[in-house]
Amino acid sequence: MLLSGKTAIISGAASPRGIGLATARRFAAEGARVAILDIDADAAADAAASLGKSHIGLRCDVADKSSCEQAVARVIEALGGIDILVNNAGITQPVKLLEITAADWDRIQDVNLKGVLFLSQAVIPHMRARKSGSIACMSSVSAQRGGGIFGGPHYSAAKAGVLGLAKAMAREFGPDGIRVNCVTPGLIGTDITAGKLSDEMRAKILEGIPLNRLGTAEDVAGIYTFLASDLSAYVTGAVIDVNGGMLIH
Ligand code: NAD
Repeated sequence: MLLSGKTAIISGAASPRGIGLATARRFAAEGARVAILDIDADAAADAAASLGKSHIGLRCDVADKSSCEQAVARVIEALGGIDILVNNAGITQPVKLLEITAADWDRIQDVNLKGVLFLSQAVIPHMRARKSGSIACMSSVSAQRGGGIFGGPHYSAAKAGVLGLAKAMAREFGPDGIRVNCVTPGLIGTDITAGKLSDEMRAKILEGIPLNRLGTAEDVAGIYTFLASDLSAYVTGAVIDVNGGMLIH
């Protein structure tokens, strides 16, 4: 098993069809104990229970620094330490540039970008003291091509910000044994896109995807598992595309 004896925090992992919960399942199957952090407390508890007894689910709003600090302290108490952090929580909004209000901008930056900063700030001192840790951050193809399918320009900007922030963290904390990497998924079938995709849109999107299918939450979970495990021991500051070839650099 790739994560035997490891402990992991995954943010935004309570949504039943989401990438976070698929990752939690995969981590648990690889031998890790998982803390699911989500803004929805009941869903986080249910998701953790669905994984088995040794996992926990806690409420955490990643956009709130003290909420992150409290949740991380509880995880360290419950699991004894944190080897892996997956900054996965995110929200989107499909609007055009001229429609973005100040409140929309703040909300999208707060969860997608500031959330990565706050949860990382809460976890890194602990990882630094242990001279070891792996952090994986959720960006998006939207950051790379200036728009995905469902994210507005503010979402692209936030996810592009995640790339810069993660690379800066990789530089700063590499000497402390902490690796930081990003994933950039294309279109993945989860609740974030549920009900928004007509048959016509789907056919058009597939024309631009060489592997000729949408991604699954498990496709991304596999990459998070690689980044969390020692298979990627010499990988930091990297960005891994999980997009079926939708964007080939
Ligand atoms: P999802 O909506 O199923 O999951 C997002 C989760 O984040 C939910 O459980 C939600 O409750 C949680 N969340 C929202 N705000 C939060 C907050 N403030 N604090 C803590 N948790 C919060 O969507 P998903 O598709 O599984 O998305 C997971 C991540 O992947 C997001 O960052 C998203 O932007 C990114 N992403 C998704 C796709 C896609 O096509 N689905 C593509 C690229 C990137």
